[in-house]
Amino acid sequence: MTRNTFFKRTLCAAAAMIAVSSTTPGLAATEAERPSTRVRAEIPAEYRWDFSAIYPDWAAWEADMQRIDAVVAAFVKLKGTLKDGPEALLKAYQASDEIGKLQARLYRYPQLQRDVDGNDQAVAGRFQRVSALFAKFAAATSWFEPELLAVPEADVKAWIARTPALAPYAFGINDSFRKQRHVLDADGERLLSLARPVGRASVSAYEELSTTDIKFPTITTSDGRSVTLTPGNYSALLENSPNQADRAKAAAAHVGTYGAQANTYAAIYAGILQRDWFNAQARKFTTTLDAALNDNDVPRSVVETLIETTRAGTAPLQRYAKLRKKLMGLADYHLYDGFRPLFASTQKYSYARASALALEAVAPLGDDYVQRYKKFVGGGRIDVYENEGKKSGAYSAGVYGVGPYQLLNHNDTLASAFTLAHEGGHAMHTVLSYENQPFSTARYTIFVAEVASTTNERFLLETLLKKTSDPKERFLLLQHAVDSIVGTFYSQVLFADYELQAHKLVEQGQPVTPDVLNKLYAGLLKTYYGDALTIDDFYKWTWARIPHFYGSPYYVYQYATCFASSAQLFKQMTTGSEASKKAATERYLTLLKSGGNDHPMAQLQRAGVDLTQRATVQAVVDQLDALVSQMEIEAAKIPR
Ligand SMILES: [Zn+2]
Repeated sequence: MTRNTFFKRTLCAAAAMIAVSSTTPGLAATEAERPSTRVRAEIPAEYRWDFSAIYPDWAAWEADMQRIDAVVAAFVKLKGTLKDGPEALLKAYQASDEIGKLQARLYRYPQLQRDVDGNDQAVAGRFQRVSALFAKFAAATSWFEPELLAVPEADVKAWIARTPALAPYAFGINDSFRKQRHVLDADGERLLSLARPVGRASVSAYEELSTTDIKFPTITTSDGRSVTLTPGNYSALLENSPNQADRAKAAAAHVGTYGAQANTYAAIYAGILQRDWFNAQARKFTTTLDAALNDNDVPRSVVETLIETTRAGTAPLQRYAKLRKKLMGLADYHLYDGFRPLFASTQKYSYARASALALEAVAPLGDDYVQRYKKFVGGGRIDVYENEGKKSGAYSAGVYGVGPYQLLNHNDTLASAFTLAHEGGHAMHTVLSYENQPFSTARYTIFVAEVASTTNERFLLETLLKKTSDPKERFLLLQHAVDSIVGTFYSQVLFADYELQAHKLVEQGQPVTPDVLNKLYAGLLKTYYGDALTIDDFYKWTWARIPHFYGSPYYVYQYATCFASSAQLFKQMTTGSEASKKAATERYLTLLKSGGNDHPMAQLQRAGVDLTQRATVQAVVDQLDALVSQMEIEAAKIPR
């Protein structure tokens, strides 16, 4: 019943963190051209969202904005009745569902329209209204969970057992009682709620320091250009500059900006570590990691196994660095050399082509899946091209009872073809969850969400590799896959490793100083990259510039566990006997259909993935090893 999780973040931001070496815009186009206009109204309607499935017009949205007050008021009237028995509890849950379904429509209608046209002030105003309204409702409905938990657990369990209509709520109810073990008495909870703004202070300080107050340096490149190293300019320079000395200069200056304020960053970070340790101890957890994993009921061993297995499996990561060094003809290879494309592509992935490929790629998932995907693609649910005022990047967002909407900024590159497949995986997960789950369990966790998306990317890679024998194109495809593994898996495990060790410092009463953090981070770079690259001293300050460390501790490991899960599932669906492949595919589809009807570990286990086992993580290491070997073979065939 945690309404604030409704607007959950997706992990898709991860794509932005991966150094994707984009292909050079291609030569002759054979399919429909990308519109040259950036004016939204001039883009053909078939490439734009159709919002009419949510509301026919703004008048209908307004009518529901008026109606929801009464719906919430009816729910609030049920306060004090939960103890009366199963019928009363059911009535409250159904009333809550009605609010939730209405909220989804009311929120998405302006939110989606704002995202494709940020300049429309009328839409922005309506979006602000709905956000303010929801804040009010969160307060009005906050009585529910404490009142539910005040009923003896045994009574509620007996009610569920004899009331089939309560079944859709059983998981949520049981989970609330599970989490109650770490809920304090009223006085304790009051103290913790009073301490919450104190805990947020460090995060605010980090945001101000790293965004408002930061002064990015300006460097002069070898060709005499003056470049101010904002994050965007910095990553563009690393990708586009053929001159290693320029890349070195940019990296030293950009990372050095954080290093110059390392004392302040360390003090802020120490505040965050102390806050996490305070909350963990207050709620009677043994470690900060246990506290962080409690929400999804993930055992600590999942993170520990992930880190241990990856540390033992860095050989293919190092081989990839060595291969890049060789192909780039460098005497010394550095972290800042990792973003340069090795070859330019002549391929163009128009939307029509990328869309057809994504569809073809998922054929192994069966006709039902393919038919539903086709229906989704043809239904005004994909906003394809960039336009003035449109949000950058890509995402998929759903409305229960309506289905998913997918935002793209398709630009005909290989990377955008993979993004399309990735978001298609999310969208189909939503389609299948909504079709098979009641509202109360239709929402899936981030933990399984990225399994669906990365699996579709993997299927696309297989399809593309089958279609070309050109060594250069094959190399670029393999490189895309390898860069995904490095960015979504290895880099994230290194981050998780750092977070775990940093938190242990405060748990053990050790000091948290810039020196300690520098040493920790530099040591990790050495552990993961060995002698495959020259590690510049300034990279020891990297910990200071990773927003996740400050904003959402113990979050990034999920990128890696999702990736490992999907690697394992892909392996099961594509290797072995026909019967075992078929069974694995069925299990996978069941996972997609199960929405959020259980904890993610339990859902994945039923699909055939056990994240507590080393073998699951090892599958990613093996996959990278095989891909790098294939790259080496293709590279040898490319005339240079
Ligand atoms: Zn995603």
